[in-house]
Amino acid sequence: MLVKERTIPLKILILSAILRRIPLSHARYQQISDELGRRQAGYEGEQSLDFYYRELPKLKYLIFHDLNLPDGDYNCQIDTLLLTPEFILIIDVKNMAGKLIFDTENEQFIQIKGEEEKGYSYPITQAERHQEYIKKLLAANHFPPVPVVYLVVISNSYASYVITGKNAYKVKPKVCKGDVMLKRIQDLEGIYTTPILTAKDLRKLSRLLLKMNTPPTGYLLQKFGIQRLELLTGVQCPYCKYLPMIRKKQKWFCAKCQHYSIDAHIGALKDYFLLIDMKITNREFREFMHIKSIDTAKRLLQASNLKFSGANKNRTYFPKTIPW
Ligand SMILES: [Zn+2]
Repeated sequence: MLVKERTIPLKILILSAILRRIPLSHARYQQISDELGRRQAGYEGEQSLDFYYRELPKLKYLIFHDLNLPDGDYNCQIDTLLLTPEFILIIDVKNMAGKLIFDTENEQFIQIKGEEEKGYSYPITQAERHQEYIKKLLAANHFPPVPVVYLVVISNSYASYVITGKNAYKVKPKVCKGDVMLKRIQDLEGIYTTPILTAKDLRKLSRLLLKMNTPPTGYLLQKFGIQRLELLTGVQCPYCKYLPMIRKKQKWFCAKCQHYSIDAHIGALKDYFLLIDMKITNREFREFMHIKSIDTAKRLLQASNLKFSGANKNRTYFPKTIPW
């Protein structure tokens, strides 16, 4: 059963939002843009595996795509998590082209494409970190100790990979190409045959994972050394991307391209939830959207299909879903 559907990954949404809200001249603009490109390629790779996930028995497997679980200053981002009564499987997808080398001796990951050779962080270390995270989460919430395993899946069908070094035999069962993934999952079914998590445990764990899912904004801003105060505020023109639009004739007006928009603040509100906070008050809305009128802000917020709590001045609005 698909518990958490595939949507555009939060990291892609956040990186795109950052690029909308820093000047082109910003020292980190190119670096963030490159990271966004890599993440988009990765997302395409993940989508290419959906065909295989659909083949899994629906009753046995609970599927979660793009989980972002807070871990102190760090963020535990899992491409796909499969829950079963017998085991939990973390799937980390690598959508890279060329020849990929898992060097188990030096714990390196190398991509060779044409004449070019490039080093990347070792996927096994990352997967093991995610494995430890899930194990700790289970223990902290008093779930029975169900085995937690991982697979690194190479989704690019044109890529080839080799595993070298003295620990290759340990890593081999944990890496595969997309078209072999189902076979590897069947192997795991053959190894882990004892049901450990009850239906109630699975429901409880599903709820917990969904509740913990949070945009990893702080982590990404910190990674690129960007302060929240550096981010440009205001409503962006949907036609020419100019920032900020102004209120005119009860609409948003772009001084650059002269277009009007009724709902350009929705995009800005999405950026706010991704970059600043997951909740917003009338005052914060006015500051971010550059409007003076409390009543206009109230009207726009009430028409934005948000959840809210509190009354009058203390009312806080929240997105109904993440991403919103
Ligand atoms: Zn414009």
